[in-house]
Amino acid sequence: MIYLKTDEEIELLRENNILVSQTLAEVGRHIRPGVTTLELDRIAEEFIRAHGAVPAFLGYQGFPASLCISVNEQVVHGIPSSKCVLKEGDIVSVDCGTFMKGFVGDSAYTFAVGEVSEDVRQLMQVTKEALYKGTAQAKAGNRVGDVSAAVQEYAESFGYGVVRELEGHGLGRKMHEDPGVPNYGARGRGPLLKEGMVICIEPMINMGTKAVVFERDGWTVRTRDRKPAAHYEFAVAVRKSGPDVLTDFSIIEQAINN
Ligand code: MG
Ligand code: MG
Repeated sequence: MIYLKTDEEIELLRENNILVSQTLAEVGRHIRPGVTTLELDRIAEEFIRAHGAVPAFLGYQGFPASLCISVNEQVVHGIPSSKCVLKEGDIVSVDCGTFMKGFVGDSAYTFAVGEVSEDVRQLMQVTKEALYKGTAQAKAGNRVGDVSAAVQEYAESFGYGVVRELEGHGLGRKMHEDPGVPNYGARGRGPLLKEGMVICIEPMINMGTKAVVFERDGWTVRTRDRKPAAHYEFAVAVRKSGPDVLTDFSIIEQAINN
């Protein structure tokens, strides 16, 4: 069941996703060699609660933390840990959710720890660009497959692996609503995008094989070949006039470029 949102509901979703963007910016300010992913999780939880929201991931299906933090070959759903110490050259994908005023925010960003190699830098840039290409298709009258195909075609044109096992989703009062938004697919196929739909578009792109492994901790997903992966996520309201992006990466990028 796909829930269409009113303008008022979209503004509450925007409020949540701006708070998620601000939280990711705050986390980004603290990303450096030597910091643990558990420290980053604490910073995020405090920041979210200080702004009158609740971390949406904490306790979700039993997830034990406020952020998913996935380092290098980890694709998504990494569990923050005091044992995971970031080092120069790592990349770290941070996925963050908030719950406030009855609605959920959900966005993600991949950060570099210090200087990363040129091939890793390209993986990050291409994954973010794939998100932008997919987002451009999120307008009323298009179909989910138009978003999916745009993401897939761009990522695969660089020889990257597009993860199949996980996908984007509708967003609203619940974190995961219909429709599913795969990162691969065919133009003109899938559910029709309508004014008032809110979807999360979240390419998970691997430098090597698209194949992933689900770790025994019950959460972490990593690349099978242990090459790095990147993950960026926007919440987007579908409008007749085009995509209305509820997440704001400029908040994050201003924070990390200072
Ligand atoms: Mg997310
Ligand atoms: Mg999501």
